[in-house]
Amino acid sequence: MSERFFSSQPISSELVTLEGPEAHHLLNVMRAGVGTMLSLFDGTGAEYSAVVESTRRGEAVIRILERRVVDRELSTSIVVGVALPKGDRQKWLVEKLTELGVAELVPLITERGVAQPTASAVERLERAVIEAAKQCGRNRLMRLASPRPWADWVRGVQAQSSEGLRLVAHPGGERRLNFELSSALPVMLAVGPEGGLTGDEVAIANSAGWVTVSLGDRILRVETAAVALVAACSIGRE
Ligand code: SAH
Repeated sequence: MSERFFSSQPISSELVTLEGPEAHHLLNVMRAGVGTMLSLFDGTGAEYSAVVESTRRGEAVIRILERRVVDRELSTSIVVGVALPKGDRQKWLVEKLTELGVAELVPLITERGVAQPTASAVERLERAVIEAAKQCGRNRLMRLASPRPWADWVRGVQAQSSEGLRLVAHPGGERRLNFELSSALPVMLAVGPEGGLTGDEVAIANSAGWVTVSLGDRILRVETAAVALVAACSIGRE
């Protein structure tokens, strides 16, 4: 597979213009020129083989040669609500969840959250989703939802879908991860903040049908807990 690039415009004609960070990657990092072959995707599930047609400062015009629908998504969806960690660990988490095939990440606002997510911070993470999708071959982007308050989200999820698994990671939780997870059902996962979920937050989730799960006897970082939980739940849905 040739080097992958993301088009933020849905590809619907024979010529596509790459700008911004994608043009920078192509022209300055890869030092591509007219005639260089590449792969493009636009997040709609297809990938395109293409060739550089012309270049200008900070911009490249690409000619589409072939369109293929290539599905690298999980067979049933995983949605993860997380009280995001701080700084670089946030970006790491977004990268790993994209690689693991998570359909949607919902930043959660919790009582003890350290990095209460703002809409603009979430927007910056969008770039990490694109970079990870380029690298891992996904042709759809993991959706980054707007930040939601804990109670709203855990209750809203219940209202949306009566079927599906709803698991909240909580040290000392009632289940261990070795119980039977049906891979035919969509799954919703929730991970609390570095300071932990409050008793109230756990009770709200429980009364909305969420089951608490333990990931073992060690206390994991938020991002480790999220990755471990997603990895365990993706068995059978690869
Ligand atoms: N002092 C906090 C630790 C929070 S760790 C407490 O005791 O709750 C951050 C989040 O990661 C937790 O809210 C939980 O969702 C998840 N987590 C960390 N370690 C875990 C474990 N061993 N089992 C289940 N969830 C865990």
